[in-house]
Order: sequence, then structure tokens, then C-alpha cells
Amino acid sequence: PYDGPSTAEIIAKRREFLSPALFHFYNTPLNIVEGQKQYVFDETGRRYLDAFGGIATVSCGHSHPEVVESVIKQLKLIQHSTTLYLNHTISDFAEALVSTLPGDLKVVFFTNSGTEANELAMMMARLYTGCNDVVSLRNSYHGNAAATMGATAQSNWKFNVVQSGVHHAINPDPYRGIFGSDGEKYARDVHDLIQFGTSGQVAGFIGESIQASYFLGVGGIVELAPGYLPAAYDIVRRAGGVCIADEVQSGFARTGTHFWGFQSQDVIPDIVTMAKGIGNGIPLGAVVTTPEIAGVLSRRCYFNTFGGNPMCTAAGHAVLRVIQEEKLQENAFLVGSHLKRRLTQLKDKYELIGDVRGRGLMLGVEFVTDRDLKTPAKSETLHLMDQMKEMGVLVGKGGFYGNVFRITPPLCFTLPDADFLVDVMDHALSKM
Ligand code: PMP
Repeated sequence: PYDGPSTAEIIAKRREFLSPALFHFYNTPLNIVEGQKQYVFDETGRRYLDAFGGIATVSCGHSHPEVVESVIKQLKLIQHSTTLYLNHTISDFAEALVSTLPGDLKVVFFTNSGTEANELAMMMARLYTGCNDVVSLRNSYHGNAAATMGATAQSNWKFNVVQSGVHHAINPDPYRGIFGSDGEKYARDVHDLIQFGTSGQVAGFIGESIQASYFLGVGGIVELAPGYLPAAYDIVRRAGGVCIADEVQSGFARTGTHFWGFQSQDVIPDIVTMAKGIGNGIPLGAVVTTPEIAGVLSRRCYFNTFGGNPMCTAAGHAVLRVIQEEKLQENAFLVGSHLKRRLTQLKDKYELIGDVRGRGLMLGVEFVTDRDLKTPAKSETLHLMDQMKEMGVLVGKGGFYGNVFRITPPLCFTLPDADFLVDVMDHALSKM
């Protein structure tokens, strides 16, 4: 049984000692003290079905024994800063990671987070091409440091500090975008930005394969219009740029059809960045690129104390094994397809649901008060989310207007879990 401080005490301490920028979900915030597989437990022992997975970080399931054991085993052996001595844990994981990627994506740089991975990727693109201009997508989230805040394209996440050299292209959003599902038409904006806003030569393009991200806004599980990435990559490469795929949320088998999100658009990026699900919750990130692009970092010293430390890479390697052993990609496809089908049926029943989208276990449900005008149903979304929590189901929230449910559960989510989630949502909607 839990014998820690009360929820009220935690809230008070958080207010006094932690960042004033912190926010939490739910009117009465949850105190999560334990997790097992697709479930989390609060201090009273109440179980919740976790359909958010710590923002898609929990790939294999909470406290997965194989991941936990790998971390403990490594900690008992040695844990230190990374690369000044040899340690096979790190190179073994790099080799295994590379084996999941296509083409010439063969060199790994480890970091501690997605922000760091994207910062490094953007710097490499700039060094490799000798250009500064980068194109990113409106509505994207790539991180909160200098370059990545510039690449992030939502005012909610942009502080008023210098963010130079990034041009934000029209988002190929099939639901709200002006060209519907015609990816090639959207890609013309990348061409225009380059021709009108730069010298005609760029460092590159950065984009999430499925826009996911955060609480107050950003993303909202937007699948890029079909054909977008091949057309955009082609335009960027003709302008001398390299293409970066941000797989922080869409990687590691989450989309079900593929291991990496970009594969659903049939492209091969020049640089791939990853974090979150790579370590099942352990802080780890990575940049994978070609030997040629990787070579730019030998021009100077590049060092990251904890990036790719033995403990975190042991976790990462265990994650890859578990995904394979437990067939989690296949499960994401099977359960995700079923869940999407059932959510789409719910859309036929309730006018409030404007759109159901996504792939595998990366799904979004957008709520609108008027289907024609697509008026964001912001307060209704919050209310529903709270009601579902009361009935034991946790989902995430996102979208520029905060009116999208983000469903990114641990990949061990089952068919009965999917049915339970939809039944609970159905009940909450019927009471609106
Ligand atoms: N890219 C994407 C797509 C993300 O969702 C996030 C985090 N929400 C990041 C980058 C940044 O990762 P981190 O928070 O680990 O720095």
C-alpha cells in the first residue's frame, strides 16, 4: 500500500518548488504511483487503462520486466558517462538500431532527449550543406532549445527569443488543410518558400511523419496527406538540402504498418531522429544518419556526457528485443485497426466527433461543435477527458485548439482494452 504524501501535499510542494510553467491534466490531477503493462495505478490502488502511454513513451508497457531487468543488470555492472572507454552495450545497441533502418542510415549519435536529437540533426544538416535555411511544417513540435524552438511551429511553444532561419510550410493536414488529401499540392509550398524566402539553396527539411505532440496544442495526430513526403523531399533535395524525419513519436513500431512512420510515405530520409519510445520511458534519444553526413561532426569535438550511456542503451536494446519477441508491431496494427474502426463507428453516432485519424496505436479523435465549420469543441474535449478518467481510462489531448484526443497507448494494448476505451467514450458522449 502507498504510504507517501497526499495528493494535496504533492500539489503544494510542486507549486512551491517546481517550475511555474508546469501544467497537469484533469480538474483533480492524478497521482500515479505504479504502472504495469497498459495500466497505471493511483495512490488508492485504483487502476486506469493508460491510452496515452506517457506521451507515447511507453512502447513495451509500463515497467516491462525485460527492460527493467536490463537496466538493473547494467547498473550493477557499471554506469558512467558515455564514450571515453569502450563498452559493448552501447555499440551493440547502435548495431541493432541501425538494422531497423533502410538505406545508408548507418551511423548513430546518442542523446538524452528528442530536443537534443533534433538540435543535433539540424546542426548536421547546416554543416553538411553550408546553408542555414530550414523548412519545417506548421503545427509541428520539434523541441524547446534554440534551433528546435525555431523549427516548432505553434505560438504556444515559442518564447520570444531569437529563432532564426526556419520557414514554416503549409501543413498537409487532410482534415483542415486547403488542399484536402492532395500531398503534392501542399508540397508546392515548400518549393515557394525556398524560391521566395531563401537563396534557393537550403540546409534541409524537418518533419514529423505523423504530427503528434503535446498538451496545449501542437499536432493532434495529423497524418500527412498521401504523397506529401516524396514530393517535399524531392524539392528539398533539388535545393541542396537534406531531409530529416522526426520519429520521436511515430517510430518504434507504433504505426503498426511499419517500424518507422516515414515508411508509410515510402521515402528514405537522410537523417532520422528518435526519443520517447526508444527507451520505454528511460531518457534516451538518437540521431541516425549516413556516414557521409555523420562525417561533419569530426570537424570539431562533439561530446555529450550522458548521451548513449550504458544504462539507457541497455534499456533501448531491451525495447527492440521486446518489440520483436512480443510482436508489438503486429499488435499495434491489429488492435489499432480495430480501435480506429470502432472510433469511426462512434463518429457516425455523435456529431461532436469531426474526424478520426491516424495509424496503428497512434490515433486522434477531433471534436467539433459544427461539422461544416469545424468549430473546435474545446471545453467539450476537456469535459469528456475528465469523464473518461472518472471511468478509468486515460487519453491524451492535443491539436492546435486543444480539441483532439491523442490515443498513443503502450503497444501491448489489447482488443478488449480497445473495446473498453470506446465503450467508456460512448457512455461519456451519451451523457453530454
Ligand atoms: N519531436 C516530437 C515529435 C516530440 O513529440 C517531442 C516531445 N513531445 C520532441 C521532438 C522533443 O522531445 P523531448 O521532449 O524529449 O525533448
